[in-house]
Amino acid sequence: MWDIIIIGGGPAGLTAGIYAARARLDTVLLEKLAPGGQMITTLGVENFPGFPEGITGPELMGNFAKQAKRLGLQIETAEVTQITPEETRIQVATREKGDFYSHAVIIATGARPQKLGVPGEKEFLAKGVSYCATCDGPLFRDVEVAVIGGGDTALEEGVFLTRFASKVHIIHRRDQLRGEKILQERALANAKVHFILETVVEEIRGEEVVKSIKLRNVKTDEKSELEVKAVFVLVGTVPNTEFLKGLINLDEAGYIIVNERYQTNIPAIYAAGDVHDKVYRQAVTAAGSGCAAALEAAKFVEETKA
Ligand code: NAP
Repeated sequence: MWDIIIIGGGPAGLTAGIYAARARLDTVLLEKLAPGGQMITTLGVENFPGFPEGITGPELMGNFAKQAKRLGLQIETAEVTQITPEETRIQVATREKGDFYSHAVIIATGARPQKLGVPGEKEFLAKGVSYCATCDGPLFRDVEVAVIGGGDTALEEGVFLTRFASKVHIIHRRDQLRGEKILQERALANAKVHFILETVVEEIRGEEVVKSIKLRNVKTDEKSELEVKAVFVLVGTVPNTEFLKGLINLDEAGYIIVNERYQTNIPAIYAAGDVHDKVYRQAVTAAGSGCAAALEAAKFVEETKA
């Protein structure tokens, strides 16, 4: 029987772990992969306060995990398949390590890359189609690649890819980019970056590996084909909440609905980070909500035990 079970080991989950451990509550964090979450795939973090020279995502998350463990957080590698509230405790079932029980649960399962949903995307996964430039970028040296999306991720990763690729085509569906001004300026100033705006991908084509993409201009309806060796799909994220359906109230996009105390519709279950936040989605805001959720959950546990 644990005081608090935290599900997910990104910035929100690990920060919740730091606060719960410091509150001297018996806390376990369940993470299906290695701790770090989406930050693992980010090379240059320039906007996490406290690191004036910047830091890599894996390094920053390594520090979070080290600090949480030093304070007493237990971290287990296990995928949660179901949460079942019982009369006086909550059962958390995992695929690998059986059932865990606690007074309170903090869900911090984050989000995963959104798919385009076009023909060829599935077929050429890991054969040119990628959702992580940091991971797969170095595989595509001196060739032309495409980045789909107009947000911070597309701009940042697009510029990162110019370290390897001969040309990076950033393809965005609107005429305005969504990403931060500083990232737009950096991309526009890079001679290897070529923007194709008001254009969508209709198909990813190839044989063994990706060879080209079929494009359509949304204004003129003109179709074209662009030869590229890789397609980096960086069009946002979807929350990891499938295992909660029917138990936790979710909005129409699948994000967890919480009150101002980070509490879900079940009083003993809290949520933090990208799994409930579709607006800010920053490591620092995820960490902040992880802290708040842990403080609230700690209060709940103390009151329940009393
Ligand atoms: P995002 O901000 O949601 O942007 C997604 C982009 O993909 C948008 O430009 C969107 O177009 C486009 N898009 C969505 N669905 C599409 C589809 N089906 N087909 C074609 N295009 C599609 O996602 P993100 O860039 O991954 O960023 C996520 C969050 O992480 C944001 O809050 C961002 O600020 C943050 N982030 C921050 C940094 C940083 O601070 N350095 C770096 C990376 C990410 P529309 O513009 O038309 O909607």
